[in-house]
Amino acid sequence: MTGRFDLVLRGGHVVDPANGTDSVMDVGFRLGKVAQVTERIDDGLADDVIDASGKIVMPGHIDTHAHLSSPFNNSVNRAYGHVMLAESGTTTALDLAGEPGALAEGMRSQGAGLNVAGLMGLIPHSTVKDDDPSLPVMRDVVADALGRGAIGVKLLGGYHPFTLESTADVIAAANEQLAWVAFHVGSKDSGSDLNGLREVPEIVGGGRLHVAHINSYCRGLVMDNLKECAEAFEIIESKRSQFVTEAYLAQINGTNGKCDEDGNLVYNVAQNCMKARGYPTTDAGMRQALLDGYGGALVERGGRIVIVTGEDAVRAWEEQKTDASLSFPVNPATSAFTLTTEKYDDGEFRIDAVSTDGGSLPRNVAIERTMALVSFGALSLLEAAKKLSYTPSRMLGLLNKGHFSEGADGDVTVVDPSTGKAMMSLVNAQPIMIGGRVVGRGGKWLVTGAGE
Ligand SMILES: [Zn+2]
Repeated sequence: MTGRFDLVLRGGHVVDPANGTDSVMDVGFRLGKVAQVTERIDDGLADDVIDASGKIVMPGHIDTHAHLSSPFNNSVNRAYGHVMLAESGTTTALDLAGEPGALAEGMRSQGAGLNVAGLMGLIPHSTVKDDDPSLPVMRDVVADALGRGAIGVKLLGGYHPFTLESTADVIAAANEQLAWVAFHVGSKDSGSDLNGLREVPEIVGGGRLHVAHINSYCRGLVMDNLKECAEAFEIIESKRSQFVTEAYLAQINGTNGKCDEDGNLVYNVAQNCMKARGYPTTDAGMRQALLDGYGGALVERGGRIVIVTGEDAVRAWEEQKTDASLSFPVNPATSAFTLTTEKYDDGEFRIDAVSTDGGSLPRNVAIERTMALVSFGALSLLEAAKKLSYTPSRMLGLLNKGHFSEGADGDVTVVDPSTGKAMMSLVNAQPIMIGGRVVGRGGKWLVTGAGE
């Protein structure tokens, strides 16, 4: 294709698994789209040129598990995730899970130029009336969520578990309407661990399901963590054509320290954090764990969420009457490594994507940790781009993203190979982040036909 280009990214190492490109190239953009990838585009044809020499140029990172509008009603329930994700080099994010109105409002007030789709979290007595919604109720909830701009719903089994029957009904109701359904596993019979994952093949029926953050069920709570990974792989393989999956590479998780009137931790994930290091699952156990520096509390500082520890953490937790966002280093590195790199015999990855489970949680390390695996020799650059962008684009049906074919969206993440960190990103060929500083505003809300 000839003609002028609005922008040329000059001389970067272009990594595009869909087209098998893994070499130094120029990328020309026109009207926000990729117009040409070739060895040399003449200066005279370019209205604007950005020098990318010595840098890695890959299709923009698509984060299939992010938090932009938190389901928890506390101080972290703000849209800081837009800026935090954009700073790390992400260009498209799936919010898992918030509320469509809050997502839209957050994008307006704190948007950083990202493409964003959202799932509505299913919280009893909040986004869904009943403790264990029936199939007819769920049909209405899903239709309503789609109409308000969500692309589906999220089951929060580690926080608001339903019965197995009700969980199956949610999955069925979503699939009937071709809505996305993601599951943080756990039911009233199990927990947020391998036992929860073991229940999933039975209840999924014939539908499709996004099984969220597989690493969260391979923390060594049920048995040795690598044995848990091996069983998780078997479970996923048994429904390979129905499941999509992701795992994140941060050691720290995110949870909530809410305690009931008797001083017991309410949420299963928080209880598991205590059990992992032998603390009681009570307010006293949590206070000691925070004082010991085992975990921390998430607080807002200068428009970002950061983690504070020790007495600062206890203060933040108490100020919010225990209903506070907390974080603990419960993800074993060996699980993260195995889950990210293991393949089927046919060469496809067993876990589809590298996610952050970040956004407004300060662990947006998907790109830099994946690049560390490249440095280590565990992944090739093409494989890194596949897990960060191409496969996520197929998961979400964003056929114009995840690659640099002619006519594809001009979404790009530029990575500095010496640090592994993103140093620039573009959405529709417009910079949204330069040198770690966000220059994008607002965002593009990805909805279904019903939400349009
Ligand atoms: Zn999450």
